Amino acid sequence: MRMTYGTETQKEILIICSCGSKSKCVYFCSEESCHLYKTQNLYCNYCEGNHAHGCRIIVKSCDTESKEHCAFASMLQDAQHALKPVSERYYGLVVILSGFAKTNKVQIKKDMAADFEKLATIESEANQLLEAQKYLYVNLQIHELLKLSPKRENLKKELLGLEYLVVLNDEMIYQNYEEVFKHPNVIPPASLKTPEDKDFVTTSKMRALQSYTSQAQVDLNSTIVEERKKSNDGVSSLRHQFLTFTLGQSSLKRNVETLTKTVTELIGSKQALEQSVKELEQKGMDQKIKEEAQQKKICELETTVQTLQRDISKLMLLQKYANASLESTLSDTHKSRQI
Ligand SMILES: [Zn+2]
Ligand SMILES: [Zn+2]
Repeated sequence: MRMTYGTETQKEILIICSCGSKSKCVYFCSEESCHLYKTQNLYCNYCEGNHAHGCRIIVKSCDTESKEHCAFASMLQDAQHALKPVSERYYGLVVILSGFAKTNKVQIKKDMAADFEKLATIESEANQLLEAQKYLYVNLQIHELLKLSPKRENLKKELLGLEYLVVLNDEMIYQNYEEVFKHPNVIPPASLKTPEDKDFVTTSKMRALQSYTSQAQVDLNSTIVEERKKSNDGVSSLRHQFLTFTLGQSSLKRNVETLTKTVTELIGSKQALEQSVKELEQKGMDQKIKEEAQQKKICELETTVQTLQRDISKLMLLQKYANASLESTLSDTHKSRQI
């Protein structure tokens, strides 16, 4: 097998071996267990027999490392290219949502805003690394070049961890920030920069509230059933029952408060939409289609407001019923004690 030690220019760069043969070092020693590892980590053809391990050719290994770096550079470039439009569409939105989650201590699955920002850090570290490797490659500094390898692999791993951002869409954002949309506090409409973001937040809020309301009703019904069952258990459990009931009542109260807040917020969104319709009319812009879509959204919001108001009435009725049931249990128990 014919060994290639590099081009003439590369051979010129290679240093003379320390053995005195005046030959160029074409191999490198990377075996920590080799007795010459510390004193002769570059060596010539004559010294080959002194290193009791396979020969690694400097130029060849430098080429391999350089190819790996080029592949990483191209992977980074592809990622930057693919993420540009995604970032333009969603970065502003996820910054608002992650900020809201942080301020209101809401648990989210991923901090998507931080992941977008991580990309910038990876880019800057990768650029430094690629610059450094270029110099080391030209100068055939194989040992220094090999030291960059773990750093490159680490950056590659971090970049692959951000792969999901390339296919980011509305549904993924909704799933990730669902708890934010369920939160009773308002996401300030003024903080949302584009009509798409405003529309997305309103729709997501409605979707989250619908699922929240049905869950609240299920919880409430099971609380009532539980309390009624307990009220039949007699005097001995009265004290415990009273405490649980009080807790149930505060949960009812919380539900009513949350729903009331939600209705207020939805009314706010509706007013904002009505206002924007008015503004469009004033400007005399040809935005018929847009207006119709917004009118539709207003109708949907009105329906949701009505549904939620009905839910509140139901909850309040259930609360009244629960109070009456407790009073009658208390009075029955009182009577039975007097007897
Ligand atoms: Zn030598
Ligand atoms: Zn060796």
